[in-house]
Amino acid sequence: MLESRNISVFYGRHRALEDVSATVSKGEIVVMLGANGAGKSTFLRAIAGQTRKVEGGTVLMDGADITLSPPHEIVETGIALVPEDRGIFADLTVQENLILGAHPQRARALETENLERVLSLFPKLKQRPKQIVRTMSGGERQMVAIGRAMMSAPSILLLDEPSLGLAPVLCTELFRTLARIKETGVGIFMVEQNAKQSLAIADRGYLLDNGHIVGADTAKALAMDAKVQAAYLGE
Ligand code: ATP
Repeated sequence: MLESRNISVFYGRHRALEDVSATVSKGEIVVMLGANGAGKSTFLRAIAGQTRKVEGGTVLMDGADITLSPPHEIVETGIALVPEDRGIFADLTVQENLILGAHPQRARALETENLERVLSLFPKLKQRPKQIVRTMSGGERQMVAIGRAMMSAPSILLLDEPSLGLAPVLCTELFRTLARIKETGVGIFMVEQNAKQSLAIADRGYLLDNGHIVGADTAKALAMDAKVQAAYLGE
């Protein structure tokens, strides 16, 4: 289980997160909803060790304190982050991007098996291993980004707005794929603005507002909550 306990993050004197506690276990999907600027990306960066601005709280992976661990050590504990800009190499092929994802020690020995597993999750990538990523659609690039993260054999996958910029039909395909990844036993923690589709596949959710958790419940209960509907579901 990945757990943040009372995380606070400051940019100078600006408090981006205060006392944020959240968990995700293997085999579950958790979504964090919040408006622009609520602090969602900051939260993911903080638990992935990609910001030095954490000034309070603890991050635990399977009980081990990783709050101050550098990102490459955090990856070795089984956490993989797909950032909002996707972090892929546009001038390399699909297969080259995927293989680069197998760089962590924990994944090297199992590179061939992992590649098979990832390609079976993403049939479109399997059909075009030699395609240069720059020439792919937004949805396909997102698949490459998630596939690359999966090549590190994570037990917890962190996703920063995976559906951002995708056409509705591609969002549906993406969320279906995430549900299949969960079935393989991987835990997914994603931050999203697409409340409807993300809650539909999630087990639990958190609401983040102005750096604070203002709600936490099952995805089903959140989807039916009048306040959530007004704020995030446009109903
Ligand atoms: P979005 O959906 O727009 O990406 P978000 O919920 O992910 O928003 P963050 O990107 O985490 O929000 O930003 C939270 C707050 O912290 C914002 O007010 C933002 O301006 C501020 N912030 C983020 N990164 C920095 C930084 N490097 N330096 C200063 N302030 C920052």
